[in-house]
Amino acid sequence: MQTILAEMDNAARAAGRPPARLLAVSKTQPAESVAALAAEGQVAFGENYVQEAAGKMAALGERGLEWHLIGHLQSNKAEQAAQLFDWVQTVDRPKLVGALARHRPAGRGPLNVLIQVNIDDEASKHGCAPDAVPALADAISAQPALRLRGLMAIPAPFPERERRQDAFARMRTLFESLAAAHPGVDTLSMGMSSDFADAIASGATMVRVGTALFGARGTRPT
Ligand SMILES: *Cc1c(COP(=O)(O)O)cnc(C)c1O
Repeated sequence: MQTILAEMDNAARAAGRPPARLLAVSKTQPAESVAALAAEGQVAFGENYVQEAAGKMAALGERGLEWHLIGHLQSNKAEQAAQLFDWVQTVDRPKLVGALARHRPAGRGPLNVLIQVNIDDEASKHGCAPDAVPALADAISAQPALRLRGLMAIPAPFPERERRQDAFARMRTLFESLAAAHPGVDTLSMGMSSDFADAIASGATMVRVGTALFGARGTRPT
């Protein structure tokens, strides 16, 4: 983990940007691996599946960790997600906004929300179109149970580095106009194991790193 953090700091410093946050993507990793990173000081963990995350949260108990949902959220799982997570990074449609707000327990404080953008317009990917962001942001901001924090994207894995950097740059433009309209917006979540340094150079404030931290993923535990 120290190597990743050092690379993140180098990328930010080289680009003259503030340091980015590391989200440790623990999908398919056992609770013991989460506990090991937590013992090294890592706080924020990302999971793709509500059920899998629920099991790890129960196994780990209360240790001040911050859980982010980074996988696609089905509406019928919104209730559980709103109860369990601290952040949901994959809000991409109005129906989810209402469902998450309705089910956020009052005692938990507002749920932090990122809008997922399908920045390369891929048929296989979830996320809203870039021009749908303003209306969705307004809908989220209108809910006291939710706190709009910014944007998340998973750009297409183009072989050409320039095309991947172009997607990061378009996300940054979108993020800056969102932040200008919504004062609480402070998070641009993009970049994974293979490209987090480029993402930070392009303006990411949070990178989501799995395999580079934990090693290769096995099969998803049930
Ligand atoms: C799995 C996953 C990651 C981490 O990917 P790595 O390549 O293992 O770093 C990041 N973001 C999302 C949305 C993911 O599903």
